[in-house]
Amino acid sequence: MYRPFARTKSVCPVCLRVLDAEKAVGGDGHIHLVKVCPDHGKFDALIWEGDIIDYLKWGSAAPPSAGNRPGVTVPADAECPRACGLCAEHESAGCCVLLELTDRCNLCCPVCFASAGESGRGSDLSLGDVARLYDLLLERGGPFNIQLSGGEPTVRDDLPEIVALGRERGFSYFQLNTNGLRLAQEPGYASLLREAGVSCAFLQFDGLDDSAYTALRGRPLLGVKLRAVDNCAEAGLPVVLVPTLAPGVNDHMLGDILRFALGRMSAVRGVHIQPISYFGRCGLPQPGRRLTIPRVLREIERQTEGAMRASDFAGGGAESAYCSFHAAYRRLPDGSLRALPRRRSQCCCVKSADAQAFVADRWGAHDPSGGQADAFDEFLAQARENSFTVSGMVFQDAMTLDLERLRRCYICEADPERGLVPFCAYNLTDSAGRALYRR
Ligand code: SF4
Ligand code: SF4
Ligand code: SF4
Ligand SMILES: [Zn+2]
Repeated sequence: MYRPFARTKSVCPVCLRVLDAEKAVGGDGHIHLVKVCPDHGKFDALIWEGDIIDYLKWGSAAPPSAGNRPGVTVPADAECPRACGLCAEHESAGCCVLLELTDRCNLCCPVCFASAGESGRGSDLSLGDVARLYDLLLERGGPFNIQLSGGEPTVRDDLPEIVALGRERGFSYFQLNTNGLRLAQEPGYASLLREAGVSCAFLQFDGLDDSAYTALRGRPLLGVKLRAVDNCAEAGLPVVLVPTLAPGVNDHMLGDILRFALGRMSAVRGVHIQPISYFGRCGLPQPGRRLTIPRVLREIERQTEGAMRASDFAGGGAESAYCSFHAAYRRLPDGSLRALPRRRSQCCCVKSADAQAFVADRWGAHDPSGGQADAFDEFLAQARENSFTVSGMVFQDAMTLDLERLRRCYICEADPERGLVPFCAYNLTDSAGRALYRR
């Protein structure tokens, strides 16, 4: 028994054909995305574990989209999501851009949207290709915030040159998406990156128990992760811990991850949670009950014994509210935690100088640039050291894809041929693992 209340479009998980879809209250009282492919039948995905009032409230008061910077003209018969680049229909200016510098990796995780690290394969973008991508991004409205990504970007020795190429062109925020192996194992490597201008390390960090790493990464890695955090702390390279959250594997470890992060607050700026999505290489079976935003927030509240509450969180602002969640906290002198007023997360595509700095300021490294730090600088430094962000993004796969959400995406992959491709379109795969865009 379904009670439909809104229409959108999605795709068939088997053939990726675009389908009409309905958002409906299911027999369980939760919100489902329901669609029927004439060839492959009916599909139902749980998208919100909560009632319709909460669902609508979460999405209400979302600011209008920031407007796009269309980069490509596409054939008239190409329809979303097959016209990315960004096309004229896109409702957001892509502004956080992933550069996939390599498809090599020093791990071969059972779960990897980039399907990286398989033996015998892998290549790197040449420095010339990287420079051309930066130039393309400038033509398409950059400079944007850059995510150095892969594969595992630290398998390359020339990250400092790659950052320098970007800086020469006016890019200033460089987030390193990393598994942390090299940060842990190579003395001086975190300092090298910090001095080269890397703004922060987004460190894959799935828990404080090796069972999570064995399930998600294929081997125990807790010791490596802890060393990586220590080395970044020593080098002054800010860290954001990024757990991939899989039901039944590590969704009970959220409290431990948050407590560990809070204990290392001067080095760890926040935790960014990624409930697992079923695209790319994913060795885990799809559960009937997927992780949804309300369930993750309830777990945060339960596992932190109310120190962080579900009501502290708001949905995305630049992107669809249903893509992400976000809360900010300040540590008071007595050690307790205070939630800062809820505001919708911004990103640099909201065009104001303040917002441009939001992402970089939240997570980036800071230099007292020249001169002595005065009392106000010290106050700012302290405020920064005592603030902490918890956020997350629920990526979409072929079961959950909602084209209304996708059209507001601001996280893009830089593709030499197509330009900017929204992340969830770039990584979309059908049930046989065939990709829409990823090569
Ligand atoms: S996701 Fe955006 S860029 Fe891609 S086809 Fe749809 S509207 Fe165009
Ligand atoms: S998830 Fe990251 S660390 Fe694991 S194989 Fe893929 S690129 Fe490498
Ligand atoms: S990457 Fe996916 S989940 Fe994130 S904003 Fe884009 S469409 Fe939404
Ligand atoms: Zn189909």
